[in-house]
Formats: sequence, C-alpha cells, structure tokens
Amino acid sequence: MSREHAHFFHMGDVLPKDRIIVFHRGEVLLCQESILWLPEALSRFHGLHDPLLLVEDTGHSRVLALNLPDDAVLEDCAVSRLTPRQLLLQQGYPDFALPGRASQLLNWYGTHRYCGACAAPTSPHAKDRALRCQACERVYYPRINPCVIVLVTRGDTCLLALHQRATASYRSCLAGFMEVGETPEETVKREVREEVGIEVNNIRYVRSQSWPFPSQLMLGFFAEHESGDICVDGKEIAQARWYHRDELPLTPSAQISVAGQLIELFLQGF
Ligand SMILES: [Zn+2]
Repeated sequence: MSREHAHFFHMGDVLPKDRIIVFHRGEVLLCQESILWLPEALSRFHGLHDPLLLVEDTGHSRVLALNLPDDAVLEDCAVSRLTPRQLLLQQGYPDFALPGRASQLLNWYGTHRYCGACAAPTSPHAKDRALRCQACERVYYPRINPCVIVLVTRGDTCLLALHQRATASYRSCLAGFMEVGETPEETVKREVREEVGIEVNNIRYVRSQSWPFPSQLMLGFFAEHESGDICVDGKEIAQARWYHRDELPLTPSAQISVAGQLIELFLQGF
C-alpha cells in the first residue's frame, strides 16, 4: 500500500496535527479521557503494519482511524476502552459522528477483503473510498443499510412498543429494515402492519441518523393511525399500546437517538 491511496496512510504519513481514533477488538481506546489520540501517543504501540484509514479531512485537519491487531498487548493502565454503542450513550448524537463513521468504515473494510464475485483479494481503490478486486477489477463501495423508524400517532396518543430484544425497559418507536425495491414509506406501512397489525396514513419524513451498529441509516417518520386495533406479532414486539402525551413511559433520550427526537417533537406538538 502506498501514498497514492487517498484514504489510507502509513504511520510515516501521519502529520503532527492529525488526530487518531484507536480501535482494538471492536472497542475504542481512550487516551486521557479523549477518543482523539495525538500522533506521538501512538509510539507505545510497536510493530503496527495495518494502514490508518482516513475518517475526516476538513482541509485544515484530519482524523484517522487505526485498528490495532487483536493480539496487541496494552499494558498502559491510563488507557480505557468503550464500545461504539457505549460512546453514543455517553457522548450523545453530534459528538458521536466521528467514532461512529470510523467504526463503520473499519467494519466494512474488515469484512470485504475478498471479492464477492471471484473470491480474489481486494485492495484499496486509488482515488475513491472503495475496494477493488485485484483479479476482476470490480469496485466495492462501503455499504449502508437503510431502516425506517416511525412514531405512529392517534390524536393526543402515540404508539410505543417494548421490543423483544430490548436491553432496557423503555418503550420506543417501531422500526425495521427496508426491503429491496421498497420506498421508505412502503417500509413504514409494511413494518407497522407486520409488527402491530394496524394500517397507517399521512406518512411524513422527519429526520435521520447514522446508526453504525454496524451500518444502518435510520430514517425517522411520523405516521397517523388509519384503521385497526393493536395486535403485536410476538416475535419482534413484546408489548405495544397507545400512550397519552401526558403519561408517557420511560423512552429513549432525544440526545442519543432519532427515536427520542421523534417522541420529543410529538410532545412539542409537531
Ligand atoms: Zn473479483
């Protein structure tokens, strides 16, 4: 790998003003409470061979990502570590963009080292943020998987659900992956029908959020109840019911997720 690859860097290419996000076994390492390492702090890691990945280049500064080998020995007790999800919960939504993007890119590069068509190794594309098959020359770009997340309303009430796989006891919006060929609005209708058995209309896009666990893009919608009574599927949804705006249960934080922001906007009367 050489300097002609615009999105990859060797340690010798790192500039003093660059900042580096360091990953080890899928977790972000924090140096003195910061996720952005100074280049000289990397000297504690010996024998690094993998290239660093460009995460952001503003023209004035660059942020790079470094993935340490799994067997790297980290003896410095000043280094703490957090999963990307823990970082989001601690730092909130805007500050999470850089480590979120770094995590998503490292995951993608790490799982696309071979061509899906001919199984030959891939290598970095000379100009684009992409990988190119060394044999058949197919080019692969990082993949994003769109999902919808929807707050269904009925007058002064909204539909909140307890998800089967939820790790916390809070109630949240309905959500699901888009299927091939669907528009996001069609996904909203289908997911709501499948998960709670009702029909919705007046579907309205509100806002979005990158959700890099590992590669989702959440598209946030409002929708209004049209017909039908709630009947949960029992697979993805454990419980769901209408909640009046004055008696909402524990819900996700608007600082962290688009789900929380949809609920907040509903309370504000949007
Ligand atoms: Zn190939």
